[in-house]
Amino acid sequence: MSTLQKYRTLLEIPDEMQLLTLGEGHTPLVRSRSIGPDLGLKNLFFKLETLNPTGSYKDRFAALALSGLLADRAPICLATSSGNTGAALAAYSTIANIPCHIALIDGTPMGKLTQMYAHGAHLWMLKDFGKDVKKTDEIFEGLKGIAREYNTGIQVSAFSTQPFAMQGVQTISYELCDRGNQPQDVFVPAGGGGLTLAIARGFQKWSLAHKALHTTRVHCVQPEGNDTMASAIRNGKRAAPVDKSTTTISGLQVPSILDGNDVVREVTETGGNGYLVTDQRIMEWQESLARKEGIYAEPAGAVSVAGLERALQQGEINVNDNVVCIITGHGFKNTSAAKPEVVHINEFKELKKLLNKL
Ligand SMILES: *Cc1c(COP(=O)(O)O)cnc(C)c1O
Repeated sequence: MSTLQKYRTLLEIPDEMQLLTLGEGHTPLVRSRSIGPDLGLKNLFFKLETLNPTGSYKDRFAALALSGLLADRAPICLATSSGNTGAALAAYSTIANIPCHIALIDGTPMGKLTQMYAHGAHLWMLKDFGKDVKKTDEIFEGLKGIAREYNTGIQVSAFSTQPFAMQGVQTISYELCDRGNQPQDVFVPAGGGGLTLAIARGFQKWSLAHKALHTTRVHCVQPEGNDTMASAIRNGKRAAPVDKSTTTISGLQVPSILDGNDVVREVTETGGNGYLVTDQRIMEWQESLARKEGIYAEPAGAVSVAGLERALQQGEINVNDNVVCIITGHGFKNTSAAKPEVVHINEFKELKKLLNKL
């Protein structure tokens, strides 16, 4: 049974709505073998959202988004994306048989473009979109006009625009709770904050429905170059846009607020905190995940681990806690920074010689 179907009673889905699925969700929770012990944590787990059909948690959103568009007989799926939302929507659009049009964040990496194109999506890359807050907001207003013309919405993976489809992402929390071992802390990479908010709301809804013993602290982790929420959570302020997003981490370059104010309030209510991490540290954790844990994440997917490290440095996590890092997207999606070392060999016998020396 699909995760949306399984947890349907915890989601507000009209009874008659047919739910599309490509096998999203039910992602593995694996115990850390090396990073956890190295950090002094007894119970660190990774939730592998990398193993969704299109390689990121956005499939949980897209499955419900396209189910909704199909029920509404929408003529097109119109979206904005830095890549993963687009890849997910493009895939689910094929099974809904609805053409998919995606306004891309300037600089969307090739892996993600290739994936969207493979599913037949129409791609528009708009200069400075997602980088400069003023231009981003202007373009977004323009897209709203197009959406009205087509009598449809804009698919953005944020509650501020798509509260219905974003509920699909709450299934991450339901899956984590359903094991009977609800974590004390969850670390979440954040751009516009929709993912963080969905996870916080998922735990809250589960607690209400199951009279759970404790709540999970949900922590919001952002790159320093896109601090719209993390410092605000820490300082009890409101979320604030950044003029220019300076982080290089694809997926987290979101200078606008989107779900920011709800994130600040609801993360604080869970007892969670905000953490800022450098791009360099994110890349180092991406490498550690790949080399020590066998988990290939895109840089954005490793942000949660960088946030956990900060929390431990600041003495804000109990080492006996059950901690989960959400690994949000697959490494295959963004390989542009990778420089694999390859030994080129002309004659096979040279290979034998080299192997004998190892
Ligand atoms: C979209 C995305 C995020 C961030 O989600 P927001 O809702 O914008 O905070 C994190 N990691 C990956 C891989 C993503 O695709």
